[in-house]
Amino acid sequence: KKYLYESSERKSLYNEVIELKGNIRVFCRCRPLNQIEITNGSTSVVEFDSSQDNELQVVCSDSSKKQFKFDHVFRPEDNQEAVFAQTKPIVTSVLDGYNVCIFAYGQTGTGKTFTMEGTPENRGVNYRTLGELFRISQERVGVMRYELFVSMLEVYNEKIRDLLVENSNQPAKKLEIKQAAEGTQEVPGLVEARVYGTEDVWELMKSGGRARSVGSTNANELSSRSHCLLRVTVKGENLINGHCAKSHLWLVDLAGSERVGRIEVEGERLKESQFINKSLSALGDVISALASKTAHIPYRNSKLTHMLQSSLGGDCKTLMFVQIGPSAADLGETLCSLNFASRVRGVESGPARKQV
Ligand code: ADP
Repeated sequence: KKYLYESSERKSLYNEVIELKGNIRVFCRCRPLNQIEITNGSTSVVEFDSSQDNELQVVCSDSSKKQFKFDHVFRPEDNQEAVFAQTKPIVTSVLDGYNVCIFAYGQTGTGKTFTMEGTPENRGVNYRTLGELFRISQERVGVMRYELFVSMLEVYNEKIRDLLVENSNQPAKKLEIKQAAEGTQEVPGLVEARVYGTEDVWELMKSGGRARSVGSTNANELSSRSHCLLRVTVKGENLINGHCAKSHLWLVDLAGSERVGRIEVEGERLKESQFINKSLSALGDVISALASKTAHIPYRNSKLTHMLQSSLGGDCKTLMFVQIGPSAADLGETLCSLNFASRVRGVESGPARKQV
């Protein structure tokens, strides 16, 4: 496949970062102990090896240690810059014509939103990415012409809602996935806002955040029970060879992965949990099928994977952040998340997968 833009510098970056390792990455990020945990006297059950930046160990309740390996492991002291430095080559490849998906996975409270969205003082991957996309487009003026668009949507209980409604005091609009003629998936009616700078994006993200909470009694609660997706569409034209391409970068803050006991919850909450479980495991199945190069990829098992189908697989780049907390109280969920991420990365040597 011919890419929109290839420079020798970027090529060498790919050789090093992308091509040698395949197109799927898993990064683990452990947040620091928070004030409540420190006050309670909690200590960390997550240990890092001083000489390795891709390993961690978890001290289990019987004092045995379980080791996990990922493409990179971020420690509690690693800041947003350090995280973005590793993420940058992957996200900016959208300007070269690649489709890219980034997911933040983990239990509620482990820093998914901190990693993706960040705070005004400590901006996360989303904002930094857009900044970098604008910077590189400027750098390529005269060689490339780019137009950038942003969409923001939410998947809650297997329903897709547009968060960029005209009036953010209105509830978000419901959307459906349609199969386009060329075999790609589209979401007709989804708002695509043209953006010219990071401030535009920040404003859109704020307005999208407001639309997200309209009609819900507890906004925080809802945000942990739904997947929030920011989509950047890049329309690019190579002014030298006339090649045009449209590519997508999806930045996804997933719903909390914590398990809720059937006995504790019922009604609406039980339904929500079942939808979350179903879509997170569908996502895990898709990524691990891609990692193990299975012929059939089960995209259709959830709205999330179906919608992202054209941006997962092939030569698309996929990155999953598995977010964990360090405290002993979260040990069970931490092990679940790390096991999930190891499975996604395809490091387990299980029996060959049956084709679906
Ligand atoms: P989630 O989205 O997974 O529910 P949040 O991103 O809301 O989790 O994080 C929970 C809290 O922990 C927030 O107050 C956030 O600012 C803080 N936090 C998370 N990760 C970090 C980190 N790496 N460094 C400092 N604070 C963090």
